Amino acid sequence: MQILHDLDEIKTACRGAARRGTLGLVPTMGALHEGHLSLVRRACDECEQVAVSVFVNPLQFGDAADLQRYPRRLDDDAALLATAGAHIVAALQEQQMYPPGFSTRITQGPELTTSLEGAARPGHFEGVLTVVAKLFAIAGPCRAYFGRKDFQQTVVVQRLISDLDLPVELVVCDIRRDDDGLALSSRNAFLSAADRRRGLSLIAALSVAQQLFSAGETSGPALEAAMTTLLRDALGHDPDYAGIVDARDLSRRPTARVGDVAVVAGRVGAVRLLDNHVLGAPLPDAAADDRPPRPSATP
Ligand code: AMP
Repeated sequence: MQILHDLDEIKTACRGAARRGTLGLVPTMGALHEGHLSLVRRACDECEQVAVSVFVNPLQFGDAADLQRYPRRLDDDAALLATAGAHIVAALQEQQMYPPGFSTRITQGPELTTSLEGAARPGHFEGVLTVVAKLFAIAGPCRAYFGRKDFQQTVVVQRLISDLDLPVELVVCDIRRDDDGLALSSRNAFLSAADRRRGLSLIAALSVAQQLFSAGETSGPALEAAMTTLLRDALGHDPDYAGIVDARDLSRRPTARVGDVAVVAGRVGAVRLLDNHVLGAPLPDAAADDRPPRPSATP
């Protein structure tokens, strides 16, 4: 496995790798956990060569404190990636990604980027699109592996690829969770034990939405109200959002259908958590107990 820091060396390595077969690209911000590694392992199963980028992208952080404290541990990441079977670690540097004078930004129309995460984090998707477009340019033709944990991001990136006819095939991978059901995230390390328990309300809300839907409730607003009530009770404040959205265009669903996505996000202590669940898909084990929906959550 090569660990490369220089942008030209990374480009050369990716071009060389692509000549040996399909190149899988896994963009990350490091502080890797099992969620990231599941993407890498899938890429290794499906591609001859796999490059993992590690870059904490300042353009996608609205909150300077969040950027500053974001965990950075390249040595540990590299050890995990070697075990997972990656071939190239692209440890990109800010001076090369955004040198003095860098002024290009990639934006999209408001349809996909101003709701949900876009509303909670203004400018976030401009930062994501800019770095992802640059990563795709650096990697060249590839299969790019993204996690459904960041569901809206996958929709936005697919639109980028389609709109610009980029030579990239997007592969969306399942959410990996801890045993208690909490979606793995590099930021979970900042949760106190009490906040972590409160954070489980996200998967509980998704579980309630699925259970109500399975019981025949198809009103989008009713499902949203049930999730919001549960989250408000658990968090002690309103969630950033709790919605039932169309998987393709993220529009709010008046009537929910199988394949729509329940999305939730909220602040737990100093951490923002987000999660989602495709209606009709099995619930993760920790959330799939036999509890009936709480009466107060019934619309
Ligand atoms: P990040 O380092 O947070 O930018 O994440 C890099 C990639 O890993 C993104 O495509 C995420 O959606 C994905 N990812 C993060 N957490 C998880 C998880 N728990 N399960 C699956 N994929 C994840």
